[in-house]
Amino acid sequence: MLANYGYKDGSGEYFITIDTDKCDSCGKCAEVCPPKILALVADPFDPLSEKEVPLVIEAERKKIKYTCGPCKPVDKSKTEPCIEACEPCAITHSW
Ligand code: SF4
Ligand code: SF4
Repeated sequence: MLANYGYKDGSGEYFITIDTDKCDSCGKCAEVCPPKILALVADPFDPLSEKEVPLVIEAERKKIKYTCGPCKPVDKSKTEPCIEACEPCAITHSW
């Protein structure tokens, strides 16, 4: 399923989406995230699953525009470290 973490305000929509079906639980996104806002946990949306998937930690969900800001490439041919690290392409950002 698509798990969305973030918020919207007058300036835009700021969501990180994790496709938990695509995710293979490798943990690379959490490893490369400089401020460590991603954490692997038991799938919060599927209590029967033993698979671990990343989420954005609660304390960061209302400020990811700012926390992720330093990762946002000026050069649009480049991408954020979490997205770059994810081989199955399970992570997207809305902005
Ligand atoms: S953009 Fe940077 S700070 Fe935001 S989740 Fe990805 S690696 Fe972490
Ligand atoms: S890098 Fe991708 S596949 Fe690996 S844990 Fe993160 S979201 Fe899942």
